[in-house]
Order: sequence, then C-alpha cells, then structure tokens
Amino acid sequence: MPARNILVINCGSSSIKFALINEDHTNTRLSGLAERLGSPDAQIRWRLDDQKENLILPGADHRAALAKILPLVESATNGQLHGIGHRVVHGGEHFTSACLLTPASLEGIRALSPLAPLHNPANALGIEATMRLFPNLPQVAVFDTAFHQSLPEHAYRYALPEHLYTEHAVRRYGFHGTSHRYVSVRAAELSGLPVDDSCWLVAHLGNGSSTCAIVNGESRDTSMGLTPLEGLVMGTRSGDVDPNLHSHLARNLKWSLEKIDTLLNNESGLLGLSGLSNDMRTLEQARSEGHAGATLAIEVFCYRLAKSLAAMSCALPRLDGIVFTGGIGENSALIRSKTVESLKLLNLSLDETLNSEMVGGQTGAINAAGHPRILVIPTNEERQIALDTLELLNR
Ligand code: ADP
Repeated sequence: MPARNILVINCGSSSIKFALINEDHTNTRLSGLAERLGSPDAQIRWRLDDQKENLILPGADHRAALAKILPLVESATNGQLHGIGHRVVHGGEHFTSACLLTPASLEGIRALSPLAPLHNPANALGIEATMRLFPNLPQVAVFDTAFHQSLPEHAYRYALPEHLYTEHAVRRYGFHGTSHRYVSVRAAELSGLPVDDSCWLVAHLGNGSSTCAIVNGESRDTSMGLTPLEGLVMGTRSGDVDPNLHSHLARNLKWSLEKIDTLLNNESGLLGLSGLSNDMRTLEQARSEGHAGATLAIEVFCYRLAKSLAAMSCALPRLDGIVFTGGIGENSALIRSKTVESLKLLNLSLDETLNSEMVGGQTGAINAAGHPRILVIPTNEERQIALDTLELLNR
C-alpha cells in the first residue's frame, strides 16, 4: 500500500492553519495559513515544497478558503488524499481520545462550546465546511484536552463544592495534550525507554505555555485548568493569579467582567510585565540592552516555570527526564538555563555548551553528565494529529 496522505486542519474563528502530512515522510510538502477570514483583507499564504505563494480573497469565509485549499491539496497528492484530521480544542469529559467525525460527534463538539466559547464553535465551523467539501473522505477530530483525561481526580478537581463539578463541569481539563503526548513518546524513543515504563516532565513553551507530568504514556497532572489561562506566565496571559483579583478589580476599580477577561487573557503575561512585547525573541534582545521590564518579565517567566515543574514532580514516581518544547523551549538557551538554575533540588544541571547549540529545530540532550536527562524536542502537533487520524482509519 502506498504511503497515505492526511490533511491536518486547525480552524480558528478567523483563520485556518493547514498541513499535508504523509505517513512515511517527516517533511511537510504543503502547509499554509488562511487568515483574516470574513474581512476584506482575507488571504491564504502557503508553502509547497520550497515555493511560497499567497492569494488575496476579499471577504472569503471558511468555506471559500477551504475551497481554494482543496486544489492545492489535490495537486500536491495527485488526488491521493486519504483523510482529514481536525484539531479540536475542547473535548470535555466526553472525548477521551480522537474520534471519527459524524453528525453526532460534531454535535458533541458544539455542545461543549460553553467550555471553549472562542474555539469549539470555530473548530465546528471548519469541520462542517470540510464535511461538505469532502463528503467521501473520513474525517477525525483530535482533542487538545483528551490526553489529560487520565488525570486522577485529586489532580483535576478544584477545591469547590461538588455540584459545580457534577452539574456545571467545572474542573481542570488541561490543554496542549497533542504536543505533550508527541514529545513524551519521542523522549522515550530517544532515550531507549519503553513509553509504558517512563516518567517525564514536559514544558511546552509557545505563545501559550503549559507543563505536564507524564507517567507510562499517561498525563497525570498539567498546569492548565478549566481554561488555558491557568498556570504559567504566557505571551499575553497572566497564568495563576489570586482568584480574588477579579472581585478586587470589580469592587475597587469598577471593572466589568469583559474588561477583566481582556486584561488577564490579552494584556498580561510577558506583554504586561515587560510593557514591551509578548514575543520572547524581542524580550531577550531588549534584556541584553538593559530593558528593565523585559528583564523582569524573563525572571518571572522562568521562576514560575521552574515552580510549576517542581510542583508537577509530585505526580511522578521517578524522573526519567525533562523535555523543553514549543517555540521558546526549542530555541531559547537563556530560558532553559534560567529555569534549570532554580531546579537544583531535583538534581538538574545543564551542559551550557550543549544548551547553547540546541536551537533551530534540533533534537537532543542538554544536561550535564551525571545529572537527569534534559531534552530539547521540537513538537509536531500536525504529525501527531495525522498519526491519530491514520490509526482510526486502520480500525
Ligand atoms: P504558538 O503557541 O503560537 O504555536 P510558538 O510555539 O511558535 O507559538 O512559540 C512562539 C514563541 O517562541 C514566541 O514567544 C517567540 O518569540 C519564541 N521564539 C521563537 N524563536 C525563538 C528564539 N530563537 N529565541 C527565543 N524565543 C523564540
């Protein structure tokens, strides 16, 4: 049987990220982004092999953009597309693994919209459009939350009255599951350990960031909660704050819920602390030039990350290694070094030469000899979604 092709789609409210994955090749031949959908500036940018292209599509919606992406996929695969894998943000407690998309499962995704009001409706929109455009292709949903459905109750329950959980689904769910799963499996492979007998701490550090404790291939704890706001300092998200901050701002400053939501999700984190940028590259540059806000933002980011990893270690019976991934984890020797510095009690120590060399998509160990493994592993959520899709197609 020739190697199969899977189109991976990640629909946002005004964007569609897409990538064509071949089961035998790690390189992606076709990938792209349709953005500003629904506006006069809608456009699609894509890369086919080494060729970059773009197309302006004023006013195009999700369906119109997908209809333009279709011929690109057909020509890149000679008409041999075997399935579509969709990234879906929230699977609640209902979806504990990837599922074949049917009208019923699509309804299930829509029903979870109160838990992810920005994401699930957009995901459902994309699924609906592709189901219409490709009615004969099997389609699969892969959930960001599913990997964390193995959390024990003591890790996923908040210390709140039970009815909020039983009647209103208020609990910790966790996100970035596809990435945590992908890199922890790679970590076991690279270390010559069986996945089902290995223990990892993972730091996924991108615009959104989270940590995860993984035991024998299962998530046992993670830093994000009911929403992706909980936990680490992120690009524009505050991460953990005193929950009374909401009432403090409402009472003393008369702020509305919307204003507080915007503050915590869009104006805080690295951006809020630095007063400069949500982008770690910009902050590292500014720090090297003596910018006080950038310096503080990096200090807080690393200290909080180290604290979270130490807390996650409570879920492990032993530690086989720590994995850094995501744009920051894969590229920033500074962030890795400052974080590990605060984890001496876990006996962690870096080889600074290896650390400084491990950038730009490289994979490998950066720990000092005789200390626990510290690995840098580029994440590949698209590939993991394609692998999950293929696995369901095999059944
Ligand atoms: P997303 O969560 O949107 O997928 P990424 O995983 O691409 O984000 O991560 C984006 C972050 O990675 C940004 O803060 C960016 O500055 C940071 N980053 C990328 N390259 C580097 C680098 N060389 N040094 C430091 N930070 C980097």
